[in-house]
Amino acid sequence: PSLHSQRHQFVVDFVRKNKPRKVADLGCGECRLLKQLKFQRSIELLVGVDINGAKIKKNMLRLAPLSTDYLQPTFDQLHIDLYQGSVTQRDARLTGFDLVTSIELIEHLILPDLELFSSVVFGYMRPANVIISTPNSEFNKLFPGLTGFRHSDHKFEWNRSEFRSWALKVCLDYGYEAEFTGVGEAPQELQESVGFCSQIGVFRRMNVLPNRFEEEVFFYTLVYSVNYPTLC
Ligand code: SAM
Repeated sequence: PSLHSQRHQFVVDFVRKNKPRKVADLGCGECRLLKQLKFQRSIELLVGVDINGAKIKKNMLRLAPLSTDYLQPTFDQLHIDLYQGSVTQRDARLTGFDLVTSIELIEHLILPDLELFSSVVFGYMRPANVIISTPNSEFNKLFPGLTGFRHSDHKFEWNRSEFRSWALKVCLDYGYEAEFTGVGEAPQELQESVGFCSQIGVFRRMNVLPNRFEEEVFFYTLVYSVNYPTLC
């Protein structure tokens, strides 16, 4: 399987194991991960957010119910909402989630925006679990001919220790704990020295304190909303 689908499969496996009810994918892009998640029976609310509204509109119909969903409902209850919005801004509709994912997004943020991302996701949304994936720069030497970043829009690519120190600072600031893993394996003899191609941090909230913000803000724009039929 492609690296892209391995990252998404990692999230699907996490969902199968932990059975979250409310899940949001930040930087949902082409809505491919959301499309896989809609088949997970534990999920009642599935939300996607992306700054690129045109990209959402082009791909949102991937999430539309098929006629077979009506004839033979297999969903107990599922509501999907897609928002155009930036992870640097707060929106009250994104609070109270069991799982928030951010797959290959943070490396597209300039550092001041990454600070905002941390405070929005860990300080304001405060989901029970967060999964973040980002390239591991130590793996880049296995890409023949690659000199700069893997993608021209990347603002940074971190090695394992840079990702770990960012993540541990976030944990300290916002009361989470993190485990580190990844997908995309190097040849056996290099696995320890270069690590995974995509590094993944799995964060767990350590307390149930709500966020410290009092006013309700709504910075995101709803672009798609669908209810799946319920079983009677
Ligand atoms: N997560 C998807 C995946 O796994 O295929 C897409 C990854 S793509 C490399 C990064 C996505 O993040 C793009 O769809 C981009 O529009 C979105 N993005 C970039 N900056 C953003 C921001 N500030 N807020 C929300 N989404 C953002």
